[in-house]
Amino acid sequence: MPGRTIPQPVEAVPETAPPIVELANVSKTFGQGRQEVSALEHIRLAIGRGEFVTVVGPSGCGKSTLFNILAGLTEADPGASIRYGGQPRAAKELLGKVAFMPQRDLLLPWRRVVDNAILPLQVEGMSRAEALKRAAPMFPEFGLAGFEKHYPHQLSGGMRQRVALMRTFLFERDLTLLDEPFGALDALTRSLMQRWLLEVWQRHQRTILFITHDVDEAIFLGDRVVVMTARPGRIKLVLDVKLPRPRDAEIVTSPEFIQIKRQVLAAIEEESLKSFQQATGG
Ligand code: ADP
Ligand code: MG
Repeated sequence: MPGRTIPQPVEAVPETAPPIVELANVSKTFGQGRQEVSALEHIRLAIGRGEFVTVVGPSGCGKSTLFNILAGLTEADPGASIRYGGQPRAAKELLGKVAFMPQRDLLLPWRRVVDNAILPLQVEGMSRAEALKRAAPMFPEFGLAGFEKHYPHQLSGGMRQRVALMRTFLFERDLTLLDEPFGALDALTRSLMQRWLLEVWQRHQRTILFITHDVDEAIFLGDRVVVMTARPGRIKLVLDVKLPRPRDAEIVTSPEFIQIKRQVLAAIEEESLKSFQQATGG
């Protein structure tokens, strides 16, 4: 109809809450000249509140670097945009914004379990008494009741991982980063820990970004699986995992699971081959 103007909305108000974190154009180069290594290239990723997002990719593709950037420990190359809760953030503002369990999360051998668990709260300035009060109810939940006063060397590998996880969960942040937390565990312990982690995630309503090199683990845990390319790490593929929750061990045999696994494996195999060729100079 000529002459008639259609009223336009002044501003489109998003119906959903802004993502917890939004990355755009995140790249990272280490070193200079002939030593230069491009670890990450143009990462664009948004994580919604309450999501469980898993990241898989060949070794050396920049997964841990991405976490270090999110945690404010490594600065991205200029031009990157990182937003938390809708607000743009400079690298130095990111420190302490997330709960972060690094890939090699060593417990301090001279601190008892409980004192390892409350360490980040103390670093933040909380008194020991207050931190202990917060930690107390979490010991049974993390399968550590009765082990509060033990030293790390007195625990099994699975228990030490639970102490590190408990420490990460005690540090309540909008976003929790877990870098291959079950990498060193045997298959049975690992599968128990995965189901347990899903329960903890749902009970505490956290938002989790989780790195793994285990495709089954990525699909079993995730709402979405992010597959990265060989170095320089880019996002190759993001798959929605629409498997019902709660998930049990049997779900890995369902046709839906196998279908997703095929796609992830095909993408990873392509990238692992590239990464192998890089390493062998082929
Ligand atoms: P992933 O966790 O996917 O295995 P990383 O993020 O640890 O990969 O490493 C990605 C690439 O960046 C690797 O080639 C690694 O050697 C390099 N790298 C990581 N951190 C540094 C650093 N601090 N200095 C120089 N190179 C680094
Ligand atoms: Mg890593």
